[in-house]
Order: sequence, then C-alpha cells, then structure tokens
Amino acid sequence: MLVVCPTPIGNLDDLSPRQLEALREADIIACEDTRNAGKLLERLGVARVEGRPKLWRYDDHTAQSQAERLVEELEAGRQVVLISDAGTPTISDPGYRLVRAARQAGVKVVALPGPVAATVALSASGLPSDRFYFEGFLPPKSAARQARCKALEGLGVTVIYYESPRRLEEALSDLEAVCGPEREVCVGRELTKRFEEYFWGPVAEVRRQVAAREEELRGELVLVVAPGQAAEVSEEEAQADRLIGALLDQGLSA
Ligand code: SAM
Repeated sequence: MLVVCPTPIGNLDDLSPRQLEALREADIIACEDTRNAGKLLERLGVARVEGRPKLWRYDDHTAQSQAERLVEELEAGRQVVLISDAGTPTISDPGYRLVRAARQAGVKVVALPGPVAATVALSASGLPSDRFYFEGFLPPKSAARQARCKALEGLGVTVIYYESPRRLEEALSDLEAVCGPEREVCVGRELTKRFEEYFWGPVAEVRRQVAAREEELRGELVLVVAPGQAAEVSEEEAQADRLIGALLDQGLSA
C-alpha cells in the first residue's frame, strides 16, 4: 500500500497519531531529501532499526524513474510512505507522479489528512473561503508575475500564493498595480512556528508594513488575496449554464 503522509509545517505537535503510526510501520519512506527526513524521524522519535524504514530519495529530478522502482516495491508487498520536507506531499511538492503510477499499477493508495500551509493561512485570513484558488509560487520576474495575477483576477475568488520573503514586497507592489491599493490581503508568516505572525489589510497598507520592518523578513509565508471582479460571462455561456442547471434539476427530481 502507498500512504501519502503529511508532516508538520512547523510545530511537531501537529503530527497525528495516524501519521506517526504510518511512519513507524513503513518499509520504505519516499522523501525529497533523505537527510531532512532522517532528522525529522529522529525529532519525532521514530526509531530506525537495521535500516528500516529505508529512506528513499524521491524528488522532482528523480520522479519518473524512482516512481517505477517504488511501484515495483509496492507490488512486492512493501508498505511505502510518501512524505515531503514539510506539509502535504503533492501540494507544491513532488508526489503526484508516484501516486498516479501506483494507481495505474492497481496498488492501493491512502492519503492521510494533515497540514497544508495554504489552507492554514486561508482559514485565519478572514477572507471569503467558500470558493478559492490555490496558485502556488508566482513567477520570479515582475512582468510575468503581474500577468499571472491579472489572469487570476477574472476568477472572482480568493487566490492563495506561496511566496518567498525576499520577493514579498515586490509581489505586493505588483498586486497593488493589478488589483488597486484597496484590495484586502493576508500574509501568514512562519505558521505554527514560534514567530508566527499575520499582516492583514489593504494591499498598499500591508506592503508599507512589510517595508517598514526593521529586520528583514525571513522564513516561510503564504499570501492570500481577496476576490477580484469575476470576468463577464457571455450570454451564450449564461444560457448554457441555465440549460445545464435545468437538466440537472430534472434529473434530480425524476
Ligand atoms: N507541501 C507544503 C504544504 O503542504 O503546504 C508546501 C511546500 S512548498 C515547497 C513550501 C512553501 O510552502 C513555502 O515556501 C511557503 O510558501 C509555504 N509554507 C510551508 N510551510 C509554511 C509555514 N510554516 N508558514 C508559512 N508558509 C509555509
């Protein structure tokens, strides 16, 4: 069986009993970096006896070939647990190719629930969370970043980005250029860790707060942006939506 196993994004107490059990019972732990994984297991008190669980490097560079070899191990009956450096594997982290390969081979796949930095920030943001879009990392260059933010404006839903602290101020100023200075944003930094903090308010104000910080911002952060105006829907699209709605209604009441 393949177990997709989230690990804490900072606070080790967030590890669940099921995650701990999966790590303890693994034959193989597929991980981005074997040294990081070794340190994490040590801190979580997961003992490795005679090399078991075996740590197996699985990252974006090795994804294809390693996925095939790991599926062979799964088919031989081994318990493989997929982790990433932090948070949930497959979310802005490697993993989906392995899950896909396991499914294609008919191997059982189980995913344990656990922390994702994006949803932690969203739930603390106070921004509309009934519908949202997760983008992950923005492009590093300003023109490409603005183009991407502009493209996502038309969705009309809250958008969540991962961003590096080095680029936060530039990203906020690009957002301000695209969305206007009043758009509400929430930046969550070092979530679940000792120096966790949030910046919240109109983007221009948050940009000023970030710029005024005496010490440089470090660590990890998530940027949540309130919805823009949804793109206009053409009359044909609206008509098609109404038709689909009516057909679904008929289907449900039949
Ligand atoms: N798989 C992870 C998850 O489930 O959230 C995401 C991995 S991605 C490579 C790393 C990025 O996630 C960081 O650059 C940051 O944007 C965000 N992140 C991870 N941990 C965080 C934390 N404790 N606080 C704020 N952001 C975090």
